[in-house]
Amino acid sequence: MNGESPVERPAAALFEDVVGQDRAVAQLAAAARRPVHAYLLHGPPGSGKRAGARGLAAALLCPDGGCGACATCRRVLAGSHPDLVVVERSGASLDVDDARTAAARAQRRPLEADRQVILVPDVHLAGPAVPALLKTVEEPPPATVFVLLADDLPAGLATIVSRCVQIPFAAVPPAVVSAWLVARGVDEGVAGAAAAASGGNLDRARLLVHDAGFATRQERWRSVPARLDGTGSAAVAVATELLGLAEDALVPLREEHARELTSLEEQAEASGARGIPGRRQVEERHRREERRWRTDDLRMGLAALAGVYRDRLTALVAAGGPRNPGADAERRRAVAHVEAVGAAAAALGRNVQEGLLLEALLVELSGMAD
Ligand SMILES: [Zn+2]
Repeated sequence: MNGESPVERPAAALFEDVVGQDRAVAQLAAAARRPVHAYLLHGPPGSGKRAGARGLAAALLCPDGGCGACATCRRVLAGSHPDLVVVERSGASLDVDDARTAAARAQRRPLEADRQVILVPDVHLAGPAVPALLKTVEEPPPATVFVLLADDLPAGLATIVSRCVQIPFAAVPPAVVSAWLVARGVDEGVAGAAAAASGGNLDRARLLVHDAGFATRQERWRSVPARLDGTGSAAVAVATELLGLAEDALVPLREEHARELTSLEEQAEASGARGIPGRRQVEERHRREERRWRTDDLRMGLAALAGVYRDRLTALVAAGGPRNPGADAERRRAVAHVEAVGAAAAALGRNVQEGLLLEALLVELSGMAD
């Protein structure tokens, strides 16, 4: 040692978009220093796998082991370096043609760097393409590193999993999502709510922040107790409004889905295909995502509502005062409110009719009105 602090390679800057994944980042950095021929980054949507893969690719292609500052690093991170080849699926699933594309690109020599990285996202959707993909990954051409991404690991993927070094990603903790948003200039209140609603998915959190209706929806949910006047008709009216808000919440997601279809159409046209291959499956996935999104939005609303009752309870407890039957009853009511909302949130995932569930909850809360 000459006293100078050693230069960190790969530089931490390469992974600055990978949030709350210290273990995965350490594994990626180790991989960059002693690469093998295939990696599988797996974890839930929005956990930062793509950003991690780009950081790894930059470290592998950079002449200085991933300095984070040179033109190579910058172009790889921006997705514009010719030796980072991204094989996006051309339809609903990653099909045999996509796997062949990956194989063909792998045979090519690197254009600029000493190596090339073939990045294949959505490997959990490989299905019938698994054998073709496996063959490619198993017979690595020299100077080629495969980086596969998967949201989960279905049983059919077992052979591929066994041929790759696995790097697991976890859902990002809400506090980390929130801090990440605040660091990007998002208002703290909006960041906290978006983080809580994101389910640890950074992509979703980002969408929520740009969802103009998000703050309004939260406010409508928080004003529910004030709008319940003890009558069933008010409860039903509020429930109807809240369901409508959950529909409004789908707008940004539907816009994103429309953009995806447009881009698939353009790809199909460019390759001379008539229409998007597997269009029905794409649309089916979109419907599934919309259902899940809607349920998540209702859950987030219920969390906001529970927060109002919890604040009330906290205030009652803090106010203290002499014990008397009136104050005790008020506290018990606040506890019952919090519990009722919690029970409804728990029931949401159980395939219940969401409209009926909400109405029943609001009627119940009305009956406990204060
Ligand atoms: Zn560099």
